[in-house]
Amino acid sequence: MTIDLPLQAPSAAGLVWNVTRNAEAKSDAEREAILADPGFGNHFTDHMVDVCWSEKGGWHRPRVSPYGPIQLDPAAAVLHYAQEIFEGLKAYRHADGSIHTFRPYENAARLQRSAHRMALPELPAEVFIDSLRQLIAVDGAWVPTADETSLYLRPFMFAKEAFLGVRPAKKVAYYLIASPAGAYFPGGVQPVNIWLSTDYARAGKGGTGAAKTGGNYASSLLPQAEAYEKGCQQVLFLDEGEYLEELGGMNVVLVRKDGTLLTPESDSILEGITRDSILRLAADRGHRVEQRRITIGEWREGAASGDIVGAFACGTAAVVVPIGRLLAEDFEIVHSGPEAEELALSLRDELTGIQYGRVEDRHGWMLRLDA
Ligand SMILES: *Cc1c(COP(=O)(O)O)cnc(C)c1O
Repeated sequence: MTIDLPLQAPSAAGLVWNVTRNAEAKSDAEREAILADPGFGNHFTDHMVDVCWSEKGGWHRPRVSPYGPIQLDPAAAVLHYAQEIFEGLKAYRHADGSIHTFRPYENAARLQRSAHRMALPELPAEVFIDSLRQLIAVDGAWVPTADETSLYLRPFMFAKEAFLGVRPAKKVAYYLIASPAGAYFPGGVQPVNIWLSTDYARAGKGGTGAAKTGGNYASSLLPQAEAYEKGCQQVLFLDEGEYLEELGGMNVVLVRKDGTLLTPESDSILEGITRDSILRLAADRGHRVEQRRITIGEWREGAASGDIVGAFACGTAAVVVPIGRLLAEDFEIVHSGPEAEELALSLRDELTGIQYGRVEDRHGWMLRLDA
């Protein structure tokens, strides 16, 4: 390993990054073999970023180092009390070879909101953006070129102080890792079946549902396993046993016959950047958008009367997925008409068009990372 000169000294955030190149980085041939069929979350790039935080020193020692295991004290608070948060965004390769990401300041702001809820320190947005640039500077070759592929970026933060008392940790680490991602639907986008979970909730009033934190995912794994048993790919959670919440990793949108898009409002929903973007693109096209409390009864009755013609889920990984069927213990909703699916797919095309640089970015959502 060698210590290179800082890549940007000082960076926009005033930090001087310490960069250690990975002497055992994958060869071009090894990397290309992985990028030919990366799947999702299976492979990681040659480097990672980390920045330390302590109560006394604030954010310090930003560095890029070879990807590898983290050494952690067995008493590190995160391992006991789950004080951790994360983000998820993608780097896209444009036709001219340049590398861009989508609305990263929204991810930076959401990481701060999650941090606040989980009593973690807020990472300044400029340091967040800088971390993306630093990783792309060394691992840019890992951004794949094939259609619908990307480099998934996973920022995360956790309590690393070795202390078993229960209080916010005084030592925290921020990390960024990256994983090449293949096309989510290699054979074209297929509608999914959703299981309605009534025995389990992912969040509760005043809980951590609006924070991107691992505990919400841990609590969704058992109902997710139940969904698989029922032949469904995803779970829909309810708020107070009645109001639509979300899928646990994706937000949900209903489509009315008149083209109105309807999406739940709740303190326990994770506010998706994909949902916000899709709803803005729809509003630009003249669709009415309503965000309010929606009961499961309203969906059932609307589907029966023909007023609600379909639904879709959205999130960074899959972008937009039509919902074909909602299965519950004692009823089901089937959406088989084409209108909602066509709308979902055309909004998906427009959004991915912006992300891959094929469609004009009229909202100023894209940020170039490799320049
Ligand atoms: C990340 C996430 C989403 C989707 O958010 P995007 O910003 O669109 O990727 C939805 N629900 C939960 C619980 C999430 O963690």
